[in-house]
Amino acid sequence: MEKYVYSFCEGAKEMKNLLGGKGANLAEMTKIGLPVPPGFTITTKACNTYYEKNKVLWEELMDEIMDHLTALEKTLEKKLGDDKNPLLLSVRSGAVFSMPGMMDTILNLGLNDTAVKALAEATNNERFAYDSYRRFIQMFSDVAMGVSKYKFEAILDRVKEEKGYTYDTQLTVEDLKNIVNEFKEIYKKELRKEFPSDPKDQLILAIKAVFDSWNNPRAMVYRKLNDIPHDLGTAVNVQSMVFGNMGEDCGTGVAFTRNPSTGENLLFGEFLVNAQGEDVVAGIRTPQPISNLENVMPKVYEEFEKVTKLLENHYKDMQDIEFTVEKEKLYILQTRNGKRTSKAAINIAADMVKEGFISKEEAILRIDAKQLDQLLHPNFEEKALKEAKLIAKGLPASPGAASGKVYFTAEDVVAAKGKGEKAILVRLETSPEDIEGMVSCEGILTARGGMTSHAAVVARGMGKCCVAGCGEIKVHEEKKECRVEDLVVKEGEYISLDGSTGAVYLGDIPRVEVELTGKFEELMNWVDEVRVLKVRTNADTPRDAQIAVKFGAEGIGLCRTEHMFFDDERIPVVRKMIVSKTIEERQKALDKLLPMQKEDFVGIFEAMGERPTTIRLLDPPLHEFLPKKEEDIKSLAKDMGISYENLKKRVEDLEEFNPMLGHRGCRLAITYPEIYEMQARAIIEGAIEVKKRGINVHPEIMIPLIGDRNELKYIKDFVVKIADEIIEKSGLEMKYLVGTMIEVPRAALTADEIAKEAQFFSFGTNDLTQMTYGFSRDDANKFLTEYETKGIFEKDPFQVLDRVGVGKLIKMAVSLGKETRKDIKLGICGEHGGEPSSVEFCHSIGLHYVSCSPYRVPIARLAAAQAALKEK
Ligand code: ADP
Ligand code: MG
Ligand code: MG
Repeated sequence: MEKYVYSFCEGAKEMKNLLGGKGANLAEMTKIGLPVPPGFTITTKACNTYYEKNKVLWEELMDEIMDHLTALEKTLEKKLGDDKNPLLLSVRSGAVFSMPGMMDTILNLGLNDTAVKALAEATNNERFAYDSYRRFIQMFSDVAMGVSKYKFEAILDRVKEEKGYTYDTQLTVEDLKNIVNEFKEIYKKELRKEFPSDPKDQLILAIKAVFDSWNNPRAMVYRKLNDIPHDLGTAVNVQSMVFGNMGEDCGTGVAFTRNPSTGENLLFGEFLVNAQGEDVVAGIRTPQPISNLENVMPKVYEEFEKVTKLLENHYKDMQDIEFTVEKEKLYILQTRNGKRTSKAAINIAADMVKEGFISKEEAILRIDAKQLDQLLHPNFEEKALKEAKLIAKGLPASPGAASGKVYFTAEDVVAAKGKGEKAILVRLETSPEDIEGMVSCEGILTARGGMTSHAAVVARGMGKCCVAGCGEIKVHEEKKECRVEDLVVKEGEYISLDGSTGAVYLGDIPRVEVELTGKFEELMNWVDEVRVLKVRTNADTPRDAQIAVKFGAEGIGLCRTEHMFFDDERIPVVRKMIVSKTIEERQKALDKLLPMQKEDFVGIFEAMGERPTTIRLLDPPLHEFLPKKEEDIKSLAKDMGISYENLKKRVEDLEEFNPMLGHRGCRLAITYPEIYEMQARAIIEGAIEVKKRGINVHPEIMIPLIGDRNELKYIKDFVVKIADEIIEKSGLEMKYLVGTMIEVPRAALTADEIAKEAQFFSFGTNDLTQMTYGFSRDDANKFLTEYETKGIFEKDPFQVLDRVGVGKLIKMAVSLGKETRKDIKLGICGEHGGEPSSVEFCHSIGLHYVSCSPYRVPIARLAAAQAALKEK
């Protein structure tokens, strides 16, 4: 018979898939002798079977659960619902991957009117018993039965206000008894039935609720955001309670073995005296820093410190630990590998290599390539920052710099983002319902909550700037404004947040690039030792090229020349070139453009030095460059000495029904070879000029949109003729390559033919994806989201390379290309070049390099190293 329930004594950390992360670690900690309250885990397999059986807890499973319950009662000499010595339970979800705040825990289960009296007597603490009872009713109603917790909190707030209390701890036994009654009334009113008094019923409903919560919308959003499969299921942990709310010698807290923001090797966390469960993260009372525990309960602190060291050593990674102290006795309730910013991830990984905990390879595999992004983003400009008005200071919850317009609800943020605005989400505190707003905003500001509050934890995970617990700011969510003393900031006004200092500024502060040094560089050096794939960049200007080189780019994989044409000075000349009726006229305009283009390329070659530099010849449809406004057409007509009507007609003639499939790329050069001739000349003359200064440049000329060998042959022949002439005249020796993009499916299918003319292939996966699917790049996002929500596509193929279809074409082109030309150079220059899973694919099929935007270069380097290590 299949086993669906495991006692904590039966499991181990390797059983994460079956027991969930939390359950496996509770078992592991039990195994190594740490003080874990006993309990058992109902497996993820049970969760999946529960869904298969249309959401019923079947008989055999119920029997197994009850057997484990009886065993637990025996061990603890307590009984669920007993009138003398009642056992209380926590029911905790635990998925395979930790999902903070996504699934809900029920504490103090087993209380009813009888058990609460027994608990009061057994502990000689009536206040504690009723405090636990009211917590249980609220949590059970909210989590298991879906009654909004605000209904209960409103009562709590009302009583506190009536009595003039600040803290929950001031509530008396009588207050609590009344509150319990009112809570039960709410339950009855909302659900039209009595609060379940049978503890077994409570347990069954709670277990079902945990299983059900696997598919609540916020859990689904989180899974999607973090690439967690939907069919893993969650385990349920049923654990005996320990109590942090029995008095001043009790408490509860969370701690990281190292600082999750910076990586500093110092215990970091918070605790609250006389509190239970989520009080610490809920931000209702402000917790104390963990270092204070040394003063409040020195013995407990000493033991706790030992445990944290032991756990870190055992798991060989930074741990995030939850604990409770009951009457000066320490209990460990959870440990897991702590979430961290990428800055902390890098520092911790590098430190742990030095401390001899892990190898360089492990360090590389530990860094989330996607998360690196947050490190590479700009900070506030120093000068502007000095002049900016500091209005408040909160906790530096998640680093980064963000500016945007203030919005007070997640929906408003989402709407603002839809309008193309930058938004800052300002909340009293965030909750899982805010998740979409947190995704869409630039940064998050909360008035309440500590460094481990929901806002802080989630923001760090997403790499989003967050300032939390900023108590100086009074947030009035319903009035859509916030105040700091007399200053009022209304919805739509700009503020700026510094997530590394906790500072909040008024206004929109400009930002600057980051400098990467120290441990980051060290780690990236290890990365470079391991990886096989080269990483180039897509850069159109010398400035972008310089940034990319700083980030470690080993060449340019794609330099687009069209952006250079949009310059104010040039566009009139470009327009003249386009509307010219005769070759002579066009040549005149092109002659003017030549020195300008040459100057562009000189700048790029200078920035790149000896690194290979691929320049793509003109690609977009011509009419993109043409004047659209009447005044522009008039002025151009005057300039050219032709009539307005004449020019207007010429512009209209150039319009296309489907420009993406129209007269663009190499097709332009078939009609107007003079354009590519000019560009080839500019590239080679520019390269020679830089070469004369002793720099050994490596130009690569790339012809876009080829679908047939003859197209390429026609263009290549004149490009090579021009290039060779220039080089010969210069008296220098210079190697250059001519190749093509593979972005039309036919090019991939006939790659053996095309390779006869091409010295390199660069996969243009944006167009290749567009044309393979027949999805217009410019329109697809309107319907692709629907594909994702309906589970038809797991990923947007424009973001993550479609290995099955587009990937098959690429593989085919690689092998056909090599058949013709063994040493053909192979790379990718689409957006996918900086996306870790696509980089892995490129590695696996033996491309020589990937190319991506400058900021993504380190991500691609890391992803390439990880791909190489995983293959071993
Ligand atoms: P999450 O996955 O959201 O962290 P947990 O299952 O860890 O949820 O529960 C949240 C909190 O509830 C814990 O940090 C702890 O303070 C409290 N808690 C859970 N189980 C127990 C228990 N057996 N005794 C006392 N407190 C508990
Ligand atoms: Mg929680
Ligand atoms: Mg927890």
